Amino acid sequence: MVCKGICERLRAYKPSARLGRYAAGQRRCQICEVFLKWPSLSCPCCGHKLRMSPRNMKLKGILKAGLAQPNQTIAGK
Ligand SMILES: [Zn+2]
Ligand SMILES: [Zn+2]
Repeated sequence: MVCKGICERLRAYKPSARLGRYAAGQRRCQICEVFLKWPSLSCPCCGHKLRMSPRNMKLKGILKAGLAQPNQTIAGK
């Protein structure tokens, strides 16, 4: 999973309203490190799964599991 630079064209700018980015329909790609205005579940640039919510329940699991299995949820593949 590599950033190809496609995300630069789809980069979402900060909402003018006091909405959060996720509330405005923006999604975060952790690989490209950008917020995208994109309807799909995966990044059009690198193909990584996009994060749609700031409240990541899986994150809790990661913290719970500690560093025993760091690849399971974070890397995905
Ligand atoms: Zn990218
Ligand atoms: Zn990406």
